[in-house]
Amino acid sequence: MTDTVFPPRPAPIIPVKGQSGFPVARIFCVGRNYAAHAAEMGHEVDREAPFYFTKSAHAILQSGQDMPYPPRTSDLHHEMELVVAIGTKARDVALDQAIDAVFGYACGLDMTRRDLQAQAKEKRRPWDTGKDFENAAIIAPITPAAELGAWGGLPIRLTVNGLVTQEARLSDMVWSVREIIADLSTLYTLMPGDLIMMGTPAGVGPVVAGDVLHGTIGDLDPVTTRIV
Ligand code: MN
Repeated sequence: MTDTVFPPRPAPIIPVKGQSGFPVARIFCVGRNYAAHAAEMGHEVDREAPFYFTKSAHAILQSGQDMPYPPRTSDLHHEMELVVAIGTKARDVALDQAIDAVFGYACGLDMTRRDLQAQAKEKRRPWDTGKDFENAAIIAPITPAAELGAWGGLPIRLTVNGLVTQEARLSDMVWSVREIIADLSTLYTLMPGDLIMMGTPAGVGPVVAGDVLHGTIGDLDPVTTRIV
């Protein structure tokens, strides 16, 4: 191994309940996975075709830390989501084996510069500046899948300053975790360290400096941040 011209940036590490940390590689995000959210954004869900965008692992902010209000936006939105942590290599996996690739689950916030995303949509350009920026993926500690029971009907909820803004059930997702893993594994070789953000329910909206966000999914560790 030759020397490098600067020290390599280490992978962000998400805490795991009762275990060593989970080093993050890639972050895949599912678009429009709750019909009511698709509708509020002016779209219908195409049941046949999930689509994806990505965030860099370096977009991660640990839950509990303050989120500085990002530059070049005046419409920062919250999107509360289930996060799936991949623990084994998965390539072209069958639907009934897809769940075997899951290491665990976490609460997450897909923070979005909605104005930049809207401009990109209008000009048919990529969403990167609206979605993939510093501190835009806020991830709570991971609960290993083995410790979770039946969770399909769990409530997913976000409060801003104590008021409920997003509320649904995981069973409202258009595509289930196993369907998304099976589909993604035909596009990519999923590897340990990859995360999947499963899309957000209806009720997204703007946040401003001083707002406190608190997101929960059943008994998973909550995701929290304060905008500063
Ligand atoms: Mn999202």
